[in-house]
Amino acid sequence: MLHEEIIVKGRGIMGEFTKVSEIFGENVFNDTVMQERLPKKVYQKLKKTIEEGSDLDLATADVIAHEMKEWAIEKGATHYTHWFLPLTGVTAEKHDSFISAPLPSGKVLMSFSGKELIKGEPDASSFPSGGLRATFEARGYTVWDCTSPAFVRQDAAGATLCIPTAFCSYTGEALDQKTPLLRSMEAINKQSLRLLRLFGNTTSKKVTPSVGPEQEYFLVDADKFLKRPDLIFAGRTLFGAMPPKGQELDDHYFGTIRQKIAAYMKQVNTELWKMGVSAKTQHNEVAPAQHELAPIYSEVNVAVDHNQIVMQTLKRVACQHGMKCLLHEKPFAGVNGSGKHNNWSITTDDGINLLDPGKTPHENIQFLLVLTCILKAVDKHADLLRESAADPGNDHRLGANEAPPAIISIFLGEQLEDVLDQLISTGSATHSLKGSKLSTGVSTLTDINKDATDRNRTSPFAFTGNKFEFRMVGSRDSIAQPNIVLNTIVAEAFKEACDVLEAADNFEEAVHDLIKQYATDHQRIVFNGNGYSDEWVAEAERRGLPNIRSMVEAIPALTTEKSVKLFTDFNVFTEAELKARAEIQFEAYAKAINIEAKTMIQMASKQLIPAIIKYATSLADSVNTVKAAGANASVQAGLLEKVSDLLVQSQKALDNLTAITNEAASQDEGQKQAVFYHDVVVPAMNELRAPIDELEMIVDKEVWPYPSYADLLFEV
Ligand code: ADP
Ligand code: MG
Repeated sequence: MLHEEIIVKGRGIMGEFTKVSEIFGENVFNDTVMQERLPKKVYQKLKKTIEEGSDLDLATADVIAHEMKEWAIEKGATHYTHWFLPLTGVTAEKHDSFISAPLPSGKVLMSFSGKELIKGEPDASSFPSGGLRATFEARGYTVWDCTSPAFVRQDAAGATLCIPTAFCSYTGEALDQKTPLLRSMEAINKQSLRLLRLFGNTTSKKVTPSVGPEQEYFLVDADKFLKRPDLIFAGRTLFGAMPPKGQELDDHYFGTIRQKIAAYMKQVNTELWKMGVSAKTQHNEVAPAQHELAPIYSEVNVAVDHNQIVMQTLKRVACQHGMKCLLHEKPFAGVNGSGKHNNWSITTDDGINLLDPGKTPHENIQFLLVLTCILKAVDKHADLLRESAADPGNDHRLGANEAPPAIISIFLGEQLEDVLDQLISTGSATHSLKGSKLSTGVSTLTDINKDATDRNRTSPFAFTGNKFEFRMVGSRDSIAQPNIVLNTIVAEAFKEACDVLEAADNFEEAVHDLIKQYATDHQRIVFNGNGYSDEWVAEAERRGLPNIRSMVEAIPALTTEKSVKLFTDFNVFTEAELKARAEIQFEAYAKAINIEAKTMIQMASKQLIPAIIKYATSLADSVNTVKAAGANASVQAGLLEKVSDLLVQSQKALDNLTAITNEAASQDEGQKQAVFYHDVVVPAMNELRAPIDELEMIVDKEVWPYPSYADLLFEV
């Protein structure tokens, strides 16, 4: 970096370049643009709505809409769209051009009203609603979320003004991710302010969760991708033998970024920066062909939207570079899958991070209360956190030897664990372990200060300095649900603490007792050891921590009495909304596995088995020819026998999978069906995959119909 900004405008050996500081946010209707373009009164009203949630009148909205349209047209926009997050897992949009009905002169005007900005009425009947909305009540509304800035997206469609919106039914139930997220932000704001006031803070006006999601992804060659129906339909490989080399040399992680990938990353960054997404870190990940992109953290609502923009941009730009971006949690068996680390903290409008322990955490009573409240929240609602990361793709990761285990525990590190131990054993903490100097033994290398705490990559929920990192989230999933859960469970813990403390005669004593009580009661959730080990699974069971191994086992957590009480107490979800979400999740799981099973059936019956038969026939021909020539055909005969045996196994497994998938698909939708897919269809899929992967290692590459793992992972 040169000075504060990366210089990219002018001419260099790499061609023309532009300054990042100049392009950053150029396609965002941000505060600067609003101040420049909106009349002062209108700007102030909008600002008040953004900050305090007051209502916007239509006249004000008209002025904003007009200016937004003028600004977007200057950026080349022809259309606008309400951009929202229905429960499909991907964003939705319907484009309308700005043109009005043609005038008598035959010309058109470009118009955009306040009403169009604030409210949209998409037909809700084709979005998942989990029974919240009967099809005859198809009306749904999108409502402008002015706390997440509108932006212009440039792509093959030209330029489109995207307006982030919430999406709800005619009767006001949330049909999206944003509505409950915003509700959960209100809950944690209210309870955090109560807590701060108890500690004498009279100045902070608002508390907001901040989130930085680290996005992992794979890149594969587009031509090879298009030869694989499994990648096209399921987003992951359903067959594929391991290449001789995987990730065992650790040579890809943080390795030199190849030029083709670097050019891709450069374009991704540029496009993201223009849309105001602060893409910051990029590197090669553990598996071959795997990479990561992390933005600088932002308010959770914006972080959720930005993460969707990141995923869309990663996919779109890949196509322009002759590649495909795989966001699936487990595109390849045998090498690491992808996740999304959700870094979460809570900060006041005047810059106080409630998760900052300071240099001497043992003296920081407010921090210790916040920390122990979080221990309590996570211990009490581990099932909900686990559920928030449940996704068909994540079933392949959680608990396997790469991602955090399916058991929720918290890593605090030596320093905080020591403080907690002191609190529990003696009732008060008197000192904090200090980070020491790190000496390398090389005189020319400066000694540096070590952190008081090492990292732990195996923990699903790790304290990392001044934030918690929730590492279970799937790479493809929206980060909304995990943050809805985090915000709400912590709001509940804060509320319960405030209820006690506000009523206490002696605050100092009461807070001291409460911290000790929470630390003692919820000590079982703290685990600083190796989360990948079998010993931990046994130990966690002894401690009574839930080990929820699959999505279908996780979903029921949404509708327990505990969950309904939590979410209704804080107005985040109604009971009906929770039931609907559980139903949608069960259906989504069943549908995902059904697609995978049908894809396998198609691949096996139309391409794999015919190719294997062809190869077996050529072996048989060869046996005859060689024998006729009086030579030794034992190699061919041996291979033929092996191939034929595996072929028989494959056909049997295929017939079985076909029958079972038909049985599964004919069942009534819901939990029972999803469980059947998990318990019966998935094992039948594995049974088909095994002999075919074995055959891939034997059959002539010339006749194998699909690019291999080696082709996909090492020839991007
Ligand atoms: P790593 O965990 O890989 O070392 P970093 O510590 O740089 O990475 O942070 C990863 C993500 O966490 C980034 O998106 C970063 O902006 C975000 N982050 C850093 N500090 C905070 C914070 N206080 N609250 C929320 N997110 C944060
Ligand atoms: Mg990290």
